[in-house]
Amino acid sequence: MRTLFQSPVHTPICYNLSYMYSPELTERIIAKLAPNGYTLRQESETRYPLRQLSDKAEVMRVPPSPTGFVHIGTIYAGLINERIAHQSGGVFILRIEDTDKKREVTGSIEAIISAFQKFDLNYDEGPGKEGGYGPYLQSERARMYLGYAVDLLHKGRAYPCFASPDDLAMAVKYQQAKKLRPGYYGQWALWRDKSAAEITTALNDNKPFVLRFRSEGSHDKRINYTDIFKGKMEVPENDLDVPLIKSDEFHLPTYHLAHVVDDFLMGTTKVFRSDEWLPSTALHIELSQSLGLKPFNYGHFAPISIIDNNGGKRKLSKRKDPEADVQYWLQAGYPIEAVKAYLLGLANSNFEDWYRANPDKSLKEFSLSLEKLAASRAPLLDMRKLEDYAKDYIARLSQEDFYNAIIKSADGTFKAALEADPGYTHQVLAIERTGLKPRKDLSQWSQAKDQYGYFFNELFETDFQQQGRQEHLSDIDNNVERAASEAFLSFYVPDDAQAAWLEKMRAAADNQSLSLKDYARILRVKLTGKNQTPDLYAIMQVMGLERVRARLSV
Ligand code: GLU
Repeated sequence: MRTLFQSPVHTPICYNLSYMYSPELTERIIAKLAPNGYTLRQESETRYPLRQLSDKAEVMRVPPSPTGFVHIGTIYAGLINERIAHQSGGVFILRIEDTDKKREVTGSIEAIISAFQKFDLNYDEGPGKEGGYGPYLQSERARMYLGYAVDLLHKGRAYPCFASPDDLAMAVKYQQAKKLRPGYYGQWALWRDKSAAEITTALNDNKPFVLRFRSEGSHDKRINYTDIFKGKMEVPENDLDVPLIKSDEFHLPTYHLAHVVDDFLMGTTKVFRSDEWLPSTALHIELSQSLGLKPFNYGHFAPISIIDNNGGKRKLSKRKDPEADVQYWLQAGYPIEAVKAYLLGLANSNFEDWYRANPDKSLKEFSLSLEKLAASRAPLLDMRKLEDYAKDYIARLSQEDFYNAIIKSADGTFKAALEADPGYTHQVLAIERTGLKPRKDLSQWSQAKDQYGYFFNELFETDFQQQGRQEHLSDIDNNVERAASEAFLSFYVPDDAQAAWLEKMRAAADNQSLSLKDYARILRVKLTGKNQTPDLYAIMQVMGLERVRARLSV
């Protein structure tokens, strides 16, 4: 069992005696901070023992906030963390950071879990998979964070701040006007040096407060640390007195405290997160140290970017880009394995060669390299390249897997049609899937209806027949069209080999003073409603004489 001072990750605890409040005042603050009680820090650390893992095993986590749709960046981070954890024989955790009750969106926790399942990001611990370090919903850990907040209060490293939104807004306005560094520090730390009497009065008045960190850093001094992806860093010390516990009725922590407490208790070995957190790293290092903990190994990565319409590179935006939402990928029906392969290619530049050389291997056999990840610049989402990955992937599927995937993704009349006559459907779906140059029409399962729907009478009549004629045969006289079809039916024998069939087509076209191209177009559009399809001879072979006759006789 780990106890408070035995853990190898502890460094000497920093007390600030001069800022400790009297026991009575401290108790009064705690009574307001944690009216429903808290878990003693020592109790938490006894409850969660150090993990018994090999030296190489990494404990990795992805901690999304349930504040809206699931971002494709979360899946990208999930993939990287899952690989690093499992490649090393370690543990992969999904933690839900639901501490922002105002921004929480109903249903988004379920959406995160479902997206992780669909992408087969198999977490060892998380919601629904309670490991020994849960609960994995931060709101259910509220009492533990309060225990750490109380610990900081006892050490003189936290204080209540009763500043009103107006007080804070005024400070911000002044800082902006004077072009000063923004934030709650130095003279702007309004409640940092308030006397016990002032705090007591505010408590007596029942004023709401946040508990703030008491930083001991100085912006003029610098600290050094190594970021796994960005390398050696030298940044100013933190001097911000950030909130640790919010002021509302939930008594929940901010990200800063929750991150440090959870990643410590859960035994995270590497903290990978988006580089929007880079500016907070000095704060997180100081906060860890103030709790007597060794700072984490951080790796900050650039978020997924795209090239926008003006040719500029920018971060994928929740508001502007539908691709930011995982649901978009799922609804379009991009094969998940192909999306994962594409994302692995974004993370490691050598992935593509490996993927080509090992088409039959599971993606899990690729060994993700942190060095390569570090070397890759901001991952750039290129939908055309993703489409190619998806087309290749679908083209490579075995006939059986392809058939099953099409059936699974279909719905409504299309699904019913596919299932009505499995023998016919098998033949339809086998057209031009083998040979030297298999067709690569499909990149999304949702395209299957358009690609194959016309083979089935019920769909052909509603979705293809009329539209196709209007679109692709409007330049052909009705009599010419009819004569061409009749002529074809007079000589068509399904048993003819392709060469003989073509000879007859050529003769018939000549006879009617049509080019072979136009002759074939008339037949193709009448049979399929489209002017681009797989090989016409092959289509007729699969459709069979009856269907061909019925369609050409109309
Ligand atoms: N909930 C944080 C976010 O979504 C997690 C950051 C982290 O990985 O620590 O940005």
